[in-house]
Amino acid sequence: MQQSNNNLNLVDVHAHLDHYKFSKDLDKVIDNAKKAGVKKIITAGITPETNKIALDLSKKYDIVEASFGLYPIDALENESMRESSLKFKPFDIDEQLDWLKKNKEKFIAVGEVGLDLHSGKDIERQKTDFEKIIKVCEEIKKPIIVHSRDAEATAVSMLENSNLKKVVLHCFGGKTELIEKARDNGWFFSIPPIIVRNKNFQKLVKKVNLSQLLTETDCPYLSPVPDVRNEPAFVAETIKKIAKIKQMEDIEVANNIWMNYQNVFA
Ligand SMILES: [Zn+2]
Repeated sequence: MQQSNNNLNLVDVHAHLDHYKFSKDLDKVIDNAKKAGVKKIITAGITPETNKIALDLSKKYDIVEASFGLYPIDALENESMRESSLKFKPFDIDEQLDWLKKNKEKFIAVGEVGLDLHSGKDIERQKTDFEKIIKVCEEIKKPIIVHSRDAEATAVSMLENSNLKKVVLHCFGGKTELIEKARDNGWFFSIPPIIVRNKNFQKLVKKVNLSQLLTETDCPYLSPVPDVRNEPAFVAETIKKIAKIKQMEDIEVANNIWMNYQNVFA
């Protein structure tokens, strides 16, 4: 995983570089990514505080872009009870979306946003907030990076009712018919390195044309190797696995995904 691959153009469209697990060695992590051939990393905020850190990181590192996210509030509350380092503070969604409108030029995308009934329960509130986010995303014309865990069907139907075209379903766990629906809508799926040991992602990649696939890590989560911290350099593992499934060369897959990245985000 560590050899130098500068002739490759790799991209990680969904990372959490602000996570405390990167606080000690982020310079090294970015360096590893560059050595692996990663040319762009989109780091996603999930709260007002992490959005500001994402902006700082995009200024500090040439290959990093910031994405503005607001995670479902009840899911954040529940997760920060489990993992106290998340230090969740409540926020006003309208205020935050106004702030986004003023700062839209600084962000490459909106995400991570969406629904989460795995960590949250209040679907009505999540839907109301997601609807507001979708509206602003339409207004400022940014791609959207969507989380939809255990609420995939609802998220897909809300997106279908919007005017959004540049939709990236991050780490999508929906059933076959929902994959087909999203695919037929022309949306994109970003695939994490855990695909090397996850049959659902392997199945998804078989069903979807390469022109609608992107690579992500969701690091530090979803590592290709159990109990090892995930990092952007590991998108190379996703490329290899997609190449195997599609019976193509790694470089061909990487080039196509780089093109998809430019179509969606440039
Ligand atoms: Zn994420």
